[in-house]
Amino acid sequence: MTPKSFGEGHEGSAPGLVDPFGRHVTYLRVSVTDRCDFRCVYCMSEHMSFLPKKDLLTLEELDRLCSAFVAKGVRKLRITGGEPLVRKNILSLFRALSRHLETGHLEELTLTTNGSQLEKYAGELKAAGVRRINVSIDTLDAQKFKTITRWGDLAVVLKGVEAAKRAGIGIKINAVALKGVNEEEIDDLIRYAHGEGHDLTLIETMPLGDIEGDRTDQYLPLSIVRARLLDRWTLEDIPFRTGGPARYVRVKETGGKLGFITPMTHNFCESCNRVRVTCTGTLYMCLGQEDAADLRAPLRASADNGHLFEAIDAAIARKPKGHDFVIDRRRKKPAVARHMSVTGG
Ligand code: SAM
Ligand code: SF4
Repeated sequence: MTPKSFGEGHEGSAPGLVDPFGRHVTYLRVSVTDRCDFRCVYCMSEHMSFLPKKDLLTLEELDRLCSAFVAKGVRKLRITGGEPLVRKNILSLFRALSRHLETGHLEELTLTTNGSQLEKYAGELKAAGVRRINVSIDTLDAQKFKTITRWGDLAVVLKGVEAAKRAGIGIKINAVALKGVNEEEIDDLIRYAHGEGHDLTLIETMPLGDIEGDRTDQYLPLSIVRARLLDRWTLEDIPFRTGGPARYVRVKETGGKLGFITPMTHNFCESCNRVRVTCTGTLYMCLGQEDAADLRAPLRASADNGHLFEAIDAAIARKPKGHDFVIDRRRKKPAVARHMSVTGG
């Protein structure tokens, strides 16, 4: 794919995307594949059926779609999945999208990854303008890592993180807090991440998609984790915000940043600036709601972006106020049927 393939210009660029609650949508997360080389227990079941490849948007279509959002005022793009780096030729999408960084229309092009392919791609990602990435590591115990991810290898992931650091990419480690699994290891994760100069963000499990097992067994409220951390660490509130759900503190003893993403114990929707698009071109205006808009049909209907812009505007005009996540024993079904790997984390 050549960097100029689609989505040139800022035709139709309007005042930006503003939802009915006055929130500016400036952040798009794009799942480029629903496939993954891991099977994390809270994310997927071991035997997943994936979308037929023909249903996926091509890389050119993804470029055009992302570029349409940039034309509409999106300033930050996060490529995710599934595991984005397992999609064939994915670096060509990064290289193509980097033209928007050069023009200044896009402020940040970033990635969330499980790190398995990072050793191979770190240098190329940096060359395509990726300055920061999120890498998911829930434990530093190799055996436990295998149990959580089912198919992952911690040593490979840590090598990937080192390669990204060497390439000069800023790193945030994401760890999902899991009851009885990694709850005793949060101190180690803080020491590791901050010792390496990375940020660390803790995430509560969210009820997305059927998995094998009971989510109430995994759910660990971060309010409990935070209270426990106060026995050993000094947590200083800092004003740092990304416009997203994470709330950050500085750990005085390490000097590093620690984030908490607490969809279950705190509602973070009032400042929501983001929407998500799947690898089939379905736009979800809220991670925690079913309502969605198909962008693939307008994308394919014509080479002109008019229909696409109309569909995006109509979707943003019905972005819901917030999510309705609930994890409790009375609800046997997940709050939202699709998996995180479909909408992108
Ligand atoms: N494969 C990449 C990775 O693992 O970083 C990107 C996609 S993954 C769906 C993005 C993030 O979502 C990961 O940090 C993962 O731990 C998190 N995640 C997946 N399922 C989740 C769930 N049910 N609740 C909370 N976080 C979840
Ligand atoms: Fe794959 Fe990421 Fe889901 Fe784990 S959390 S199964 S690495 S998509």
